[in-house]
This record gives sequence, structure tokens and C-alpha cells, in this order.
Amino acid sequence: MRFPALAAVALALASGSRADAQEPKRPPNIVVIFTDDHAYQAVSAYNHPLKLNQTPNIDRLAKEGVRLDRCLVPNSICGPSRAVLLTGRYSHSNGFYNNTNSRFDGSQTTFPKLLQRAGYQTALFGKWHLVSDPTGFDTWQILPGQGQYYNPPMNRMGERVVMPGYVTDVITDLSLEWLGRRDRDRPFLLMCQHKAPHREWSPALRHLNHNNDRPFPEPDTLFDDYAGRGVAERTQDMTLAKTITALDMKFTDPPGLTPDQKKAWDAYYTPRNTAFKAANPQGRELVRWRYQRYLHDYLGCVKAVDEGVGRVLDYLDKEGLAQNTIVLYASDQGFYLGEHGWFDKRWIFEESVRTPGLIRWPGVARPGTSSERITSLLDVAPTFLEAAGIPIPEGTHGRSMAGLLRGQVPADWRTSFYYHYYEYPGPHNVRRHYGVVTDRYKLVRFYEPGVEYWELFDRQADPRELTSVYGRPEHAAAQRDLHAELDRLRRELRVPETDPPETIILPKKKK
Ligand code: CA
Repeated sequence: MRFPALAAVALALASGSRADAQEPKRPPNIVVIFTDDHAYQAVSAYNHPLKLNQTPNIDRLAKEGVRLDRCLVPNSICGPSRAVLLTGRYSHSNGFYNNTNSRFDGSQTTFPKLLQRAGYQTALFGKWHLVSDPTGFDTWQILPGQGQYYNPPMNRMGERVVMPGYVTDVITDLSLEWLGRRDRDRPFLLMCQHKAPHREWSPALRHLNHNNDRPFPEPDTLFDDYAGRGVAERTQDMTLAKTITALDMKFTDPPGLTPDQKKAWDAYYTPRNTAFKAANPQGRELVRWRYQRYLHDYLGCVKAVDEGVGRVLDYLDKEGLAQNTIVLYASDQGFYLGEHGWFDKRWIFEESVRTPGLIRWPGVARPGTSSERITSLLDVAPTFLEAAGIPIPEGTHGRSMAGLLRGQVPADWRTSFYYHYYEYPGPHNVRRHYGVVTDRYKLVRFYEPGVEYWELFDRQADPRELTSVYGRPEHAAAQRDLHAELDRLRRELRVPETDPPETIILPKKKK
């Protein structure tokens, strides 16, 4: 037995409290399928009322594991969320604040490093987005920056390679090839990190017209006027009405298409674009058209992700690995699918702050159950470390979800959550803000000089978060408690009083 210490813990975890089972089990393998900007509204296991799409393979994880219904991110944007996943710590502790000028300090402790040190073989494929090279992985192959959808160039441990095919398939293929050549005598960590369904939302060519031109239902806040909220919400730049680009809307070709791929692309888009130009819709009709194009492309991207998840799960079944492998599906944050007229993320508000989270862990996660408790990407690292029998490092902000996944929620499980967004000035013009989230309320502080105000949302009365009730007498008691809780969280998490110099974003030099 090569992992006696790990095995004892894995055994105790898998069997609840019984430590008397016959054969010591090996610590579990871990597969993380981490996508970029995948909204829970577009995972059918979440039963969104608009029923936008079907994701049968991702849904398998809900049937065979636990669906996390309130999995929150501490800083709703790509790079920072990845740093949170790896470290189990907030941005002000892991040092990665924003996508504009942060660089991940790869010398800090991460869960892949600790697993590697404990004897796991570790691999990472796909989107990385943390600027510095990955550490803690035996093998890695990453997209530079955001990467491209078709025939993507990649960085294979320092060597530039171009991978023919569609990016989601490429990342799945790399993951399966690595699983096929792994050392079968050691547990593994595989991180399969998709670019999709990130902007510009280019689907696999086989998925063009996946909806047979059937229109998608619209969210009832598509034409939100932002009344009831403050300057930050009214002056953002993330609307279908104003912000969307020709590349997003497929009037410009995406990079990387081969001549044959370009033919297939044109066969779908050209006639539809021609019809659009002839009709020349304006105002609300233009927004409606854009919403349909957006949803077609976005949900098309999700289809390939779902197929990739199915291929990985099938592989685990075929190899007899499923019973001793934890599989997590999550995204780096939530995303707007036209709610409030928006795409993108960044806000403390629900579509943005909440990410899908589905976890299958045979023997621990109760199949077919869900949890409404506040969990977070912060909790992923400590959960995996506990699964592997590795002590959770001091200073970790998240905590292991093992008990919660068993349905035995610890009495002191969090009932409030601290959120903090830093990337301003920056793309989409979302002002810096922080706040506290509870089951019912959100207390939010916008603090940019000149744009300083508080908001309070009562999600019970106002689930779409349309009207701040800050200062209203009927919420005075709740407001007072939330202020106290926000102060407590900031103290406990040691959030700097003012944003540190590393968060300052200088205007980009004109070339
Ligand atoms: Ca993202």
C-alpha cells in the first residue's frame, strides 16, 4: 500500500464513521471539469423556468451526486475565480484581483500542489488565464489568455503547439489521452478547464442551428430600465443594446477557421445575417434579434461542453474508475443570459455571483440530492484535501463540503458570504463593490469616489433584485444586522481597509 495515511482517511470518509471495512481503499481520484461563464440557467438540472436547453451529461452528476443550489464566487470574473479555486482563499489573500493586471504567484500553496506532494499525479488542460505558468501539475497544456475556439494555439509546458479542431473537443481529447496513459498505481487529479462558453460564443460547427431556428424564450427583465438601483447599475457597459460587438454577433469571422470550416460557418450565418440586414430591426426589435443570436451561439457552445462531460464520465465507467473518483462540474462564475438586458458577470447579483456546482462522490455525496446552503468555489480546495487525507492549510477561507454533501450540515456552516469585485476601471464599466450575501438579503457597498452608495435587496420579496430597499424603515433591523455582519466578515477575513496598490488599474498605453 503506497498511501497508508491517505487511505485511512479516504476509507473513513467513504464509509461515514466505520473504519472497520475489510480492504483499505485508495484515496479518491479527482476530476474537475471547470468551464468559463457557464450560467446555471443553462444547466437543465437546475430546472430554470425558461427551460433554455438540455444538458443530459452534466445532469448525470446531479442524479448521481449533489446539486449545489447556492454555490457563490467571491469575485465574479475569470482569473480571480481560478485563483480562488486553486487556493481556497479570497482575492485579497491569493493576490489575483482582476484580469487586467494581476499575475498569479505560482509559489503559493494550492490544492494541486498538495495533492502532487502527497503522491497524486496531476494534470491540467485548457483555459488557465492566470498569466504565470501553472505550478503543481506534472503535465499541463493551456490556452494562451482567453484562447480561440477553432484550431487553438496552446502552450504545452512551454512549447507552442496548434491543435486542430474545436477547442472544447481538443481539451476533452487531451484529458482522455492523459487518463489513458496515466500511472494506474497512483491516484490522479485531472483539471479539464474549458474555454467555452466564454464570449465570443462560437459553437462547434456540428451544433450550428441546434435549435432548428426555434426562438428562445426571453427573460422578463430583458428591457430593464435600472430604476430602483444606483449609478453603477445604470452606467455599466454590458448590454445587448449597446455593448455587443460584430464579432459577438457573428458579422465578423472568429479567428482560426480553415477554408472548409469557413464554408460550414457561412452556410449557417450568411443567409441569416443577410435577412437581418434586409429587415434592419431597430430599438427593442434589434435587442430581441441580438438576444436570439446570443442564445443560439451560447447554448451551442454549452452543447459541446455537455458532450465532453459525457465522454469523461463514460471513460470513468468503462475503466471502472467511477466508484473511486470525485467529479466536480462548476464554472468560474455565473453569467447573464439577457436578464437586465445584460451579458457578462462581475456583479454581486444572483446570475453573476452564483455558479453551477455539481459533485459526484460515491459513498459521500448523496445521489440525487441538492443543497441550498451557501457554498463557494472557496470550498473546493479544502473538500479535495479532506478527501485525500491532507491537512487543510492554515489561512484557507473555504471549508470542506464533505459533511454537507452527506446531508450532515455542520451546525456552524456559513449563513453569510462576503463578496468583493475590483476590476474598475475596466471592461464593461462595473464599479468596484463589496457586500454580504445571506439566504434572503444582499447588502452592497459601491465605493468608487463619486459613485459611493449602499444598496439592500430583499430577495424574498424581490428575487430579480430590481429595487434597493436601503434605508426603508421596514428593513431597518435587517439592515443593521447586515452592516454588523459585513463588518465582522471584513474583520475576520482581514480585508484591507482600502484597496491595496496591486489593484490599481492604469489606463492602457496607446500603441
Ligand atoms: Ca469566466
